[in-house]
Amino acid sequence: MLRPAFRRLGASAGAFASPSLAASTSTPPARLLLSRAATAAAASAQPRQQRCYSYQPSAASTSQPQDINPGSLTITETTTPGKLSKPEDLVFGRTFSDHMLTIEWNKDDGWLAPQITPYQNLSLDPATCVFHYAFECFEGMKAYKDQQGRVRLFRPDKNMERFNKSAARIALPTFSPTALIELIAKFAKLESRFIPAERGYSLYLRPTMIGTQKTLGVGPPGSALLYVIASPVGPYYPTGFKAISLEATDYAVRAWPGGVGDKKLGANYAPCIVPQREAMSRGFQQNLWLFGEEEYVTEVGTMNFFVALRNKETGAKELVTAPLDGTILEGVTRDSVLALARKNLAPEGWTISERKYTMQELADASAEGRLIEAFGAGTAAIVSPVRSISWRGQLVQCGLKDHEESGAITNRVKNWMEGIQYGEDEHEWSYLCE
Ligand SMILES: *Cc1c(COP(=O)(O)O)cnc(C)c1O
Repeated sequence: MLRPAFRRLGASAGAFASPSLAASTSTPPARLLLSRAATAAAASAQPRQQRCYSYQPSAASTSQPQDINPGSLTITETTTPGKLSKPEDLVFGRTFSDHMLTIEWNKDDGWLAPQITPYQNLSLDPATCVFHYAFECFEGMKAYKDQQGRVRLFRPDKNMERFNKSAARIALPTFSPTALIELIAKFAKLESRFIPAERGYSLYLRPTMIGTQKTLGVGPPGSALLYVIASPVGPYYPTGFKAISLEATDYAVRAWPGGVGDKKLGANYAPCIVPQREAMSRGFQQNLWLFGEEEYVTEVGTMNFFVALRNKETGAKELVTAPLDGTILEGVTRDSVLALARKNLAPEGWTISERKYTMQELADASAEGRLIEAFGAGTAAIVSPVRSISWRGQLVQCGLKDHEESGAITNRVKNWMEGIQYGEDEHEWSYLCE
């Protein structure tokens, strides 16, 4: 029950004070409903105190919010294991594994006991804040199977760091990175049968966090749900690389200084679909997002963008990507490509640069035969070679010969990355799930 003081505050706040005050003091969090069978099974596995789906405002002063505690994980295994798809039939993000990891949070208790349950629907009130104000952020990472059949993650600390930054930016709770990695590793191991053992295959993991408070008031959610689902995926290019063509996009802006384009918020993605469809209708697979009057090159679709070119004056070879100035998503692949290039390409005379560069600079390099190659970089495909960029009515060629689908640097980057991801090259970036 709400105390009258809160109710009065809520009522008057609605009229003239910050709506966030009204929202955070007067409305209970939405209730997450797991299926009855799963909940009953979980309850019988470990008795627990009543769950605080609707917290009492007065309880806030006495409780110490908990961080995620992997030790209190309960696992309810499915009684109806799904059939595995043939590896060659896998479509990205279409089929999911048997289970999901869920961790609820509320502002009084902090993170509640993690659960692995059968994969199932969520049941949320239509007024839940995620549906109205986009309290949602996510991650994209993969679990790989090595030659000994062990499950490995790739730089999960980087994903957790970014997940926390995204969550904090939209007033969702943060958490201990190592605790969530431990739980994700357990989850990935449990779903090991969904990971085909061949190179190129993996289990795509989608950590997601949503605000679950039932309220139309615009304010910080008093409750949240963190969940992780998993989708077995095959090689992005099953029959080898296929170079794509881009449309340089200036009429729509993906990210801007002071904005949130550098965070993995769901709200950043829906607005990019119409421009992508526009580009597709003109025969280009993806947008190359330009920014500002200078037409700085930022990212390609939902990947970071790299170009290899020769310096106009010195002829020196340079691998370039845009700097993390707030308009660029901090890709784990981007960071890895930079580090591997500094280690492997710099000794061959390459300069590795994080700097601003413009579409004009690329067009000039192309016209003068100095553009060596271009590729997108991201978890899904690792690298995605680019053939050409449509810009101001011209087609800027990115260095590939007609019969080529990818360049030498792109191929080498893919091999370096896969060697580490599949545990063939021992590396501190590979995290063994034990
Ligand atoms: C996820 C994402 C990337 C790539 O990040 P990785 O961690 O390498 O997968 C790049 N750009 C955008 C806009 C993204 O959402």
